[in-house]
Amino acid sequence: MKFKKILEILFTIFLIILIFFVFNFYSVNNFNDFYLSKSHLNISKFTRDKEEKYSNNPSYKITSEDYNDAMFSQTVKVKKDTSYKVTCMVKTKDVVSKNNLTGSGAQISIEESTEKSPSISGTSDWQKIEMIFNSRGREEVNIGFRLGGYVDECKGEAWFSDFKLEEGTKEKNADWRFACFIFDNVNATVNGQKIDYTLSQQDIIDINNTIKRFESSITTMSNGLMTSAKCDTYRIDTPITELTYDETYGYFVDSSSVEPQIKEYMNGNNYDYVFIIFKLDDQQVKDWVGLGAMEYYGLGYSNIRLLNKDNNYLYRYNARVNTFPEEVFVHEFLHTYERILQEYGYKIPELHDYSKYGYTNKSLEGLKQWYADYMTCNIKTNKGNIGLDPIVYTIKPTKSTDFQNSTVIENTFYEPQNVFEKIVQIFKKAGKNLSNIFKD
Ligand SMILES: [Zn+2]
Repeated sequence: MKFKKILEILFTIFLIILIFFVFNFYSVNNFNDFYLSKSHLNISKFTRDKEEKYSNNPSYKITSEDYNDAMFSQTVKVKKDTSYKVTCMVKTKDVVSKNNLTGSGAQISIEESTEKSPSISGTSDWQKIEMIFNSRGREEVNIGFRLGGYVDECKGEAWFSDFKLEEGTKEKNADWRFACFIFDNVNATVNGQKIDYTLSQQDIIDINNTIKRFESSITTMSNGLMTSAKCDTYRIDTPITELTYDETYGYFVDSSSVEPQIKEYMNGNNYDYVFIIFKLDDQQVKDWVGLGAMEYYGLGYSNIRLLNKDNNYLYRYNARVNTFPEEVFVHEFLHTYERILQEYGYKIPELHDYSKYGYTNKSLEGLKQWYADYMTCNIKTNKGNIGLDPIVYTIKPTKSTDFQNSTVIENTFYEPQNVFEKIVQIFKKAGKNLSNIFKD
């Protein structure tokens, strides 16, 4: 009888110790419904941290001993064509990136896309970061909290906490606001060689006139479908020092490379589109003067290149040489409309396919007629007129102002709140793991 009692007590103690260890293991390793992924194995650790935390719950920590791209992510259901904002708190310690590129660090991002929040590197205390995006044609997105990035890998430590998803209200007008950044200097190293280009007084005059022409001709060419186009111009004297290489286009300026110079002008200004204007020689590029269809945190973004040649008329109005000097601006901007409609699943002609529909590049005004017909859906075919669907003028990029009266989507990135919920979570995860084993 006595012996049985002792056994019972010992067994109870054993159970308590076991439960304690299971719970401890759970609280250090449990990433709830997040899926863990990394580029290289055995470099990064994913743990929960009870000491370094922002609120009540242990924080989510990624430690990368060496350069890696590591993230924990969750697939979230979204409504099509809707503005969303993801926020979290982040803290970093000794985060450095392999190639020293600005776009990498601790960040929020959507897997397999370039959509991301600003990235935090170095050592910094808890701060809030946010990623805003439009779901466009998607019904689910995989949202990741990441140490690394799609451009570069990182090492160091990053803590994340207090994840939140909000749904916003989209602006539905056809007024477009453009930020035009004129960079006086490019001062970079290309293939071990220093390059150094400065805009001349004539370049500045030409480009300012061209921006003014773009402002009025883009609304005229849309035949009023774009209700207004407002361009703000900024001269930037801090040089562009980082060029990105692409197999097809050669060197160009990625949006992350100019973020430090432009962000103070972008914040709070409600822009829809960004032009980066600078000089590069033909040697650095593969046959382009403008590059479009890129993004700066969800806004349209393009490069406008000035030629390294004296006295050329690419951006200068002259009745006998060039009557449409704003062509490069129009062309690159229309690439963004082309991309938006393609992402929404519309069937539209490609911007480069003018010759297919009988248009030619004319000596004075280039492809002006093609762009005007493209913008007003007036390209004649034997199946009727085609071009941009007019809806594109009101598909504005997602901006922080979309979230003035936002709705928080509860239960996303859910954290169990009590012991009972934690036990349910353990069983749920065990079930998931088991069913994955059977699937394999
Ligand atoms: Zn093009």
